[in-house]
Amino acid sequence: MSRTRVPLVAGNWKMNLNHLEAMYFIQQFTWLMRNAHYDYEHSAEIAICPPFTSIRSVQVLLQAEKAPIRIGAQNVSPISGGAFTGDISADMLKQLDCRYVIIGHSERRKYHPEDDANLINKVRAVLVAGIQPILCVGESIAERSQGIELEYAIDQVSKVTRDLSDEEVSQMIIAYEPLWAIGGNGSASPQIAQNAAAAIRQYLLSIYGNYVAQKVRILYGGSVNSANVVSLMQGPDVDGFLIGGASLKPDEFSKIARLVTIASAQRDE
Ligand code: PEP
Repeated sequence: MSRTRVPLVAGNWKMNLNHLEAMYFIQQFTWLMRNAHYDYEHSAEIAICPPFTSIRSVQVLLQAEKAPIRIGAQNVSPISGGAFTGDISADMLKQLDCRYVIIGHSERRKYHPEDDANLINKVRAVLVAGIQPILCVGESIAERSQGIELEYAIDQVSKVTRDLSDEEVSQMIIAYEPLWAIGGNGSASPQIAQNAAAAIRQYLLSIYGNYVAQKVRILYGGSVNSANVVSLMQGPDVDGFLIGGASLKPDEFSKIARLVTIASAQRDE
């Protein structure tokens, strides 16, 4: 893989798969990847973001399988510890080998109070713990029908990044996930995914300079599957995918990772 930005295929399991089901998934998935001779070192990076209750089981099994599949969490507390019933700190996630934390997913923005200050503090908390945030942005159908979708996504990025240093922003991953495309309702077109990724990268370039703009991986998310992933990967600014439904099926998720590896190698030839 010659590119500076290694493609990332991240599965967001949401509130699915208890720890027993998660273990079964990992056994099947690692077997499929072994059988396909997946070369982890030179292929798309794979991450799985299970519910908190499955992270430890996934960690132990991945260690036993010696499979360099990354672990991500779906949320984090902005606070480092103390009397916060029900919360999980970034340090706790780091202890579980979490390399990524999804922050600001549209489902969390919808069902929980995730204001900008909260998101900034979460990003800061995970960066301090040495974890990379995957910040989710993307418009609803209302903004798209007004033609302000790119401004909207960029505004969401800027509201979180504007108080961060260049170095902090360079550690981030941004997932463009238009709300209308999430949940199997039909993916955005490759052109829409590329346009949004290019606009976000252009914004990063204008504020943080070339180093940051070239380093930050920008993912697309929304009804990605093995039938559409190759065309979605054509856009030069699309650095991988955040995948919900299709990441719950080991064979489908394994196929997607292999297709992304091939498509990105062809794109970069
Ligand atoms: C998501 O919710 O992050 C997502 C991309 O879901 P799906 O792939 O199911 O559309």
